[in-house]
Amino acid sequence: LFLALEGGDGAGKSTQGRLLRDWFRERGREVVMTHEPGGSALGTQIRQLLLHGDHVAPRAEALLFAADRAHHVETVIRPALHRGDVVITDRYLDSSVAYQGAGRDLDADEVRSLSLWAVQGLVPDLTIVLDISPELGRARRGAVHDRLEAEPDGFHARVRARFLALAAATLSATSWWTRPRTPTRSTTRSWPGSRPWWG
Ligand code: C5P
Repeated sequence: LFLALEGGDGAGKSTQGRLLRDWFRERGREVVMTHEPGGSALGTQIRQLLLHGDHVAPRAEALLFAADRAHHVETVIRPALHRGDVVITDRYLDSSVAYQGAGRDLDADEVRSLSLWAVQGLVPDLTIVLDISPELGRARRGAVHDRLEAEPDGFHARVRARFLALAAATLSATSWWTRPRTPTRSTTRSWPGSRPWWG
């Protein structure tokens, strides 16, 4: 089972991720809790480049996030899924669509395609989007820790709008779940058929 937590900075992804992890562990499941950027050894170095460089050109930024994700999937996520573990990741592909697509104003479909190529099509069974306004997110985070957090509220407002649009599109795309099984299209959040999502 592969779960992704998405949303703006300060939305509470890490807290909810820990709660989910504990919930699964109490029920006897092995859980790998991970994050992007930086969920692997190489990713830690990429994270450093991404968050603490002076300026990173938007396309370079998109490629670095995709590189981090490619390595993360191959070395951490796929092996865990093959073992049968539950994987919970704090950020995944939708973060790139929201931050690099909407925040940086790159073509969102191209950003998505780049990420899908990087992960060889691996998408979560379920993505949970936590919503927060840029103002409240900033207040909850406190001090600015990195280059991307320091972006103005307008940037974070575009990111938020894209996350909400992604969630809304998925809700309509998955409404078949409660009806006879005729999925109309596949999205980043494919529901796991007749299994409950936590099964
Ligand atoms: O979630 P975390 O705080 O670890 O993310 C680090 C920074 O990278 C955050 O400021 C987040 O806004 C940013 N980010 C981004 N594009 C992504 C993922 C994260 O700009 N695809």
